[in-house]
Amino acid sequence: MTYDLILRGGRVIDPSQKLDAVTDVAFAGGKVARVGAGLQGDASTDIRDVSGAIVSPGLIDLHTHVYWGGTSLGVDAEDFCRRSGVTTAVDTGSAGPGNFAGFRKHVIERSQVRILAYLHVSFAGIYAYSARVMVGESEELRMMAPVDAVQVANANRDVIVGIKVRVGAIASGRSGTVPLDIALQVANEVGLPLMAHIDQPPPNYEEVVARLRPGDVLTHAFRPFPNAPTTVQGTVKPAVIEARQRGVLFDIGHGKGSFAFKTARAMLANDFRPDTISSDVHTLCINGPAFDQVTTMSKFLCLGMPLPDIIAASTANAAFAVKRPELGSLKPGSVGDATILSVKNGRFDYVDVVGEHLEGDRRITSEGVVIAGRWWHPKHASAVKSA
Ligand SMILES: [Zn+2]
Repeated sequence: MTYDLILRGGRVIDPSQKLDAVTDVAFAGGKVARVGAGLQGDASTDIRDVSGAIVSPGLIDLHTHVYWGGTSLGVDAEDFCRRSGVTTAVDTGSAGPGNFAGFRKHVIERSQVRILAYLHVSFAGIYAYSARVMVGESEELRMMAPVDAVQVANANRDVIVGIKVRVGAIASGRSGTVPLDIALQVANEVGLPLMAHIDQPPPNYEEVVARLRPGDVLTHAFRPFPNAPTTVQGTVKPAVIEARQRGVLFDIGHGKGSFAFKTARAMLANDFRPDTISSDVHTLCINGPAFDQVTTMSKFLCLGMPLPDIIAASTANAAFAVKRPELGSLKPGSVGDATILSVKNGRFDYVDVVGEHLEGDRRITSEGVVIAGRWWHPKHASAVKSA
């Protein structure tokens, strides 16, 4: 067999097959072809020495905003992924049924990075989110578009992986949980998962998770008070534990206002790890406090979560949430995406959304990305030697 690319000698961490070993990974025809020691290429094979680095399945950032130019909060997916090791950016509700066609044609189809999307139930998605103009798109119930959302979701099942709704004092205001109930009807009708955002109460955390079905995702799960998942005693609220037992997935969605070290410490002390780690990158948090996926992952590393679990939360678990098992894995036959990571030791300053600083001793950085079986971002390939 002729391989297009071989990553040689890295520490391959692939939680989808419980693999953590120094070995090679080969790609052919856009897919993972083989994992094993001593793989040989021929004259046409791009062979990269990644010894000393970590090879993981391509990172999936489950919560991003990449409708660049179409929405004020959108960032450029390729720029973002180049620096943060992400091969699949899942956009969560930037577009609704009224403007999804532009997102698809002008952004998703032109992007070398994979973009999947949760479709917002509000007609124009998150249309007024900036430093000076902030209008909760879920508050105005005339904007709720369940029939259009069903049509658009069904017409774009190759890229739409779920339905998005934002509820909270900022996002849905006086409409409370009504937009969530409408979005659940859409999700039921199209047979896709729902991702729900929460911000400040009302509605409270318990009211929101109580409505979610197995496989639905609560994002901003480790947010600060008010509406944290923890009690004043530092335990996990019973409704949160009950929702996990029922199969609800808990996503980080760091963003500008949705991740606190205090909450994360308490959750991890209770052995309640996030199912998925995501950045919620958008224009108001890409320059801090969220920055990107690898920074968000680094925070969890410094808080004591084991590296293989952090990689699982950014690969296999995210693939499970979007029901795309061909992503987030290096099993032969999987989509040929991989991320080359390094873990640097030192003293690093991290900050959360309430301004708390954490001095960490490690930092995860992206050293390279493989998309569809090809080395993708040569501009940033300095750490890896071409052999
Ligand atoms: Zn978001």
